[in-house]
Amino acid sequence: MKASVLTVGDEILIGQIVDTNSSRIAQWLGEQGISVSEMRSTGDTREAIVNALDELFAACDLVIITGGLGPTKDDITKHTLAGYFGATRMVVHEPTLQHVTELLRRRGIALGELNRNQALAPDVCEPLLNLSGTAPGMWFEKNGKLAVSLPGVPYEMEYLMANEVIPRLKKRFALGKVYHKNIITAGIPESTLAETIAAWENDLPGYLRLAYLPSLSGVKLRLSCYAADAHANVADEVAERVRQLRALIPAHIAGYDNDTLEGVVGRLLKARGATLSTAESCTGGRIAAIITAQPGASAYFRGSIVAYSNDVKVKELGAQPDDVEKYGAVSQAVVEQMARGAQRALQTDYAVATSGIAGPDGGTPEKPVGTVWVAVATPQKVTSHKLNLGSDRERTILRASYSVLNLLRLALADGSSS
Ligand code: ATP
Ligand code: MG
Repeated sequence: MKASVLTVGDEILIGQIVDTNSSRIAQWLGEQGISVSEMRSTGDTREAIVNALDELFAACDLVIITGGLGPTKDDITKHTLAGYFGATRMVVHEPTLQHVTELLRRRGIALGELNRNQALAPDVCEPLLNLSGTAPGMWFEKNGKLAVSLPGVPYEMEYLMANEVIPRLKKRFALGKVYHKNIITAGIPESTLAETIAAWENDLPGYLRLAYLPSLSGVKLRLSCYAADAHANVADEVAERVRQLRALIPAHIAGYDNDTLEGVVGRLLKARGATLSTAESCTGGRIAAIITAQPGASAYFRGSIVAYSNDVKVKELGAQPDDVEKYGAVSQAVVEQMARGAQRALQTDYAVATSGIAGPDGGTPEKPVGTVWVAVATPQKVTSHKLNLGSDRERTILRASYSVLNLLRLALADGSSS
């Protein structure tokens, strides 16, 4: 089963917005075992959309389209699809009309002509009720070719994919059950990981596929079985393979499935009834932001001191002026003092600290841009590491933040340091 994605919008072609819809849709479809053979973006003209559909349908049977469904004149996907699939008239989709009317009533707005038009759909399609917006999705099918049209707004597209499109695709194509297991790794680069687990990977049975999904927080490994019905024992088989993997990279497995590094750290802190603070120079509070994005973080996170200037490092965190002078702020001595200082000032069991050169300026031959010292203070000791994170400022800040969270995770998981 092959599919394509077609995103419509002049804004995409002029580089004003980034087409994230295509990659999200490819992920959704991939998880169902439908592979995407092509992705296209076109402008908001009838001709461009028709051309793209003709070409895409020559090579596949399913095209998922996003964008151009709004009530404004420039949104022409709906009328183009109506023509393409031979509609004779537009009909009111009552559930959408009711939903839009109610939505506007709650905001104290009367239903206008433009909104009423949004509830209209070509008579040849099945409209898909969009409870996260106003424009309905549309399901067109003719001569074995299927087009699904969704709004361009990412969360509306996501809502319809999850609630209307995927369930219908499963039924329509009798898609087999798919089994996925995510293994969240941290602190190991993709290439090192691949080398370390090469033999394990080669030994996987043919019906299990492995994907490497790298991000700045670490590499997610995903084991997938696209014919779970034919392999009744797939869950046991995967569990056994994961056990083997764990033996190969024991320190690098942070969690599974929907776990995140910050979530795992939060869980470990909670389980110990322990508290955390951060002392951040080059990360500027980013670690605190990542931690507090977790619901329930108040149970363990007490606060952060963003100590950007040396003066603040000394006055608020008790860094030694002599050491700042002698070794510089980006040094093992100072970052360890910062971690201890946060522990003391914010009265927490654990603290993490960062001090580095995020760039693009400020590097020296001994301390090039991307040099970051990080420290983790536990009730017993302080450990620190020097990282070399490259020259991109934003990536350095995020990599440093996640590296620290991973070091904290290891300190928390290691019973001896408690
Ligand atoms: P609406 O009914 O809200 O107007 P629409 O179907 O008309 O939705 P568009 O007008 O094409 O959608 O796009 C609305 C907004 O959605 C865009 O301004 C952009 O922010 C976002 N968007 C559109 N297409 C994409 C895409 N391919 N990837 C990411 N975001 C997109
Ligand atoms: Mg629009």
